Amino acid sequence: MTLAATAIALIVAVTLGYAFLCWVSPFAACRACDGTGNREPFSLLRALLGRPEPRRKRRRIRTKCRRCRGTGARLRIGRRIHNNSRRLRHDATR
Ligand SMILES: [Zn+2]
Repeated sequence: MTLAATAIALIVAVTLGYAFLCWVSPFAACRACDGTGNREPFSLLRALLGRPEPRRKRRRIRTKCRRCRGTGARLRIGRRIHNNSRRLRHDATR
């Protein structure tokens, strides 16, 4: 087996694996909130000083994640491409 054939087989295997993953589990954890669905509001002072934890333990203020609208899930890119192509085909052939 040549190097090119091995590379092609590897690429096909990875693509089919990702397609299977998108079929089995179309949603993944949101990258902005790590799947929790809520975030701490952005603080410029905290970002500049680089202190993640406040000194005094205060009640934590959390807001709904804007990226996933509080669901904690995002649609995988492969599933989004699949949904868009299905919608395009449906709209073109009706
Ligand atoms: Zn989120």
